[in-house]
Amino acid sequence: MPPRAPAERAASKSESRHNQFWYPYRCEHPGCDKQEGLLKCGACNMAMYCGADHQRADWPAHKEECKVFKRLGLRSTFYRDEDMLAAYPLRPSRLDSNARVRRPSAEEAPQCPLCLKSNGEVAMTRTQCCGNALCDTSGEYVLMSYSRDFCERSHDRYTLCGYHGEERECDKSKDWRECPRCLSFGQLPDRLWRGLNAYNFCPLKSTDVPRHSRCDRCDGCQRLYMSGVEGSAFSGGRSLCPRCY
Ligand SMILES: [Zn+2]
Ligand SMILES: [Zn+2]
Ligand SMILES: [Zn+2]
Ligand SMILES: [Zn+2]
Ligand SMILES: [Zn+2]
Ligand SMILES: [Zn+2]
Repeated sequence: MPPRAPAERAASKSESRHNQFWYPYRCEHPGCDKQEGLLKCGACNMAMYCGADHQRADWPAHKEECKVFKRLGLRSTFYRDEDMLAAYPLRPSRLDSNARVRRPSAEEAPQCPLCLKSNGEVAMTRTQCCGNALCDTSGEYVLMSYSRDFCERSHDRYTLCGYHGEERECDKSKDWRECPRCLSFGQLPDRLWRGLNAYNFCPLKSTDVPRHSRCDRCDGCQRLYMSGVEGSAFSGGRSLCPRCY
């Protein structure tokens, strides 16, 4: 097979949903609540601005994370809370109910919302945490591979929704998006990763997504990175980026 052109390789890399993140549709400049006619930062294609003035004013705060987003080839799925709450209304955790008794039909779930494979092409199931339909391919997961290509496993392991209800402190009468325990989970960048990665059916409410908070700062080199995407190591009380461990 001939080697693929660089452009093609770049395109398929940027298509990976592991690099895809929910991003609130709002101006990134703190204090600005404009949600219309926004323009993307041309460097990272993640942050949005109401205009050149706010983009310029926000640049000192955005500059360093912008480089990280660009380096990692991240892509955004922009959302408004009202749309997400309409599509996925708040409801109690389903962890105690047996949500998996029935396979979702093709009418109920034409495709897996996470990987977009069609019902029939893959078998479908429902998650225990939220009861949402998704593909049932976890049986193919190779132990210790830590592959994130398996929707059910990734949703269960890498999202707050999957985590919600497993902790005694969780308020199971609430949706994970309103559970005090889930909303204070771990360090902020890790929490945002777990609430906004592409293994989620719906994202954290934007009011729980502080601006300029998605990156971790390495205790070694002091540079920004994203532990959820790149990995991190904890050693001697310090959390380190992959360059430093
Ligand atoms: Zn603005
Ligand atoms: Zn940017
Ligand atoms: Zn899937
Ligand atoms: Zn769930
Ligand atoms: Zn919870
Ligand atoms: Zn480092």
